[in-house]
Amino acid sequence: MRAARLTATGSPRDVVEVVDVDDPRPGPGEVLVRVGATGVCATELHFLDGLLPAPRFPVTLGHEVAGTVEAVGEGVAGSARPWAVGDRVAVHYLHSCGDCRPCRAGRENLCAAPRGMLAFASDGGFAELLVVPARSLARVPDGLALVDAAPVTCSVTTALHAAAVADVRAEQVVVVHGTGGVGLALVQVLRRRGARVVAVARSAARREAALGLGAEWAVDPAAGDVGEQVQRLTGGADLVVELVGTQSTGEQSLRALAPGGAVLYVGYSAESLTVSPLALVVGEHRVLTAVSCTMAELELGLDLVARGEVRVLVDRTVPLEELPDVLDALAAGEVVGRAVVVP
Ligand SMILES: [Zn+2]
Ligand SMILES: [Zn+2]
Repeated sequence: MRAARLTATGSPRDVVEVVDVDDPRPGPGEVLVRVGATGVCATELHFLDGLLPAPRFPVTLGHEVAGTVEAVGEGVAGSARPWAVGDRVAVHYLHSCGDCRPCRAGRENLCAAPRGMLAFASDGGFAELLVVPARSLARVPDGLALVDAAPVTCSVTTALHAAAVADVRAEQVVVVHGTGGVGLALVQVLRRRGARVVAVARSAARREAALGLGAEWAVDPAAGDVGEQVQRLTGGADLVVELVGTQSTGEQSLRALAPGGAVLYVGYSAESLTVSPLALVVGEHRVLTAVSCTMAELELGLDLVARGEVRVLVDRTVPLEELPDVLDALAAGEVVGRAVVVP
């Protein structure tokens, strides 16, 4: 099969190559998926720049995968998830064990002993075929195209999990600080909860997209301190979701808060956040974090998109060979929503 392999850290055209590799084969409890679509996430850029360590070189990136069951391994037919050839599936990129304490508590996103993790620990989905545990698959509802299902597995699901962690309520003012694929999904998830949303984006196209998806305000960070702009527009935010994660955006997010407000970290960068405990204590401000999603949130995300309640913006679809160009476009902020590879 063909796969787009990352050979080192560096710029996309130098370190991503499409090559022939052996077809993977499903072992016991595993499913062979013919990849129909794989979303290109900002996370890929962190493997290229080395902020996230690749598990090895070469490795196949791509963790937002939807496809069709091509074959099943021993024991799958009689299991709790008896997938059959031809089933349309989306992959939970973190292959939770199902056995550890977080898994038993329904918090598979915090699994202590994952069996694999696309791109982070095992080969991902920028390839024609992929082997994954049967328990890490969710059904793609009828009528939902695989190209739309793939980005759900990381963008909509991350947004659903973040909103759940922060327990967002109606009428709360929530800032989405960074409006990529996750941010645009988050705008919609927050609106569904009745929140009043401020979207922050450098690109006019992304601000426009956020307003179209239900944001009440759109803020351009180039027009001044985001914290001051949010204070002026709303009187202060109950929650700022940080999808950028630099020192500067973190400081501006904290300045945007109303008394009792919280900053929720989902995004990160190579930078740290330094903050005085006093500055947090005075306003009783909190710092929260959210990572990945549960299996239930993946199933919910697919259902919401299939029913048209949340929209996935697919910016473009490209073959494997064009992955380096798309990564460049993503780094330049030229992608609105998700680019999707169709191998
Ligand atoms: Zn992702
Ligand atoms: Zn586990």
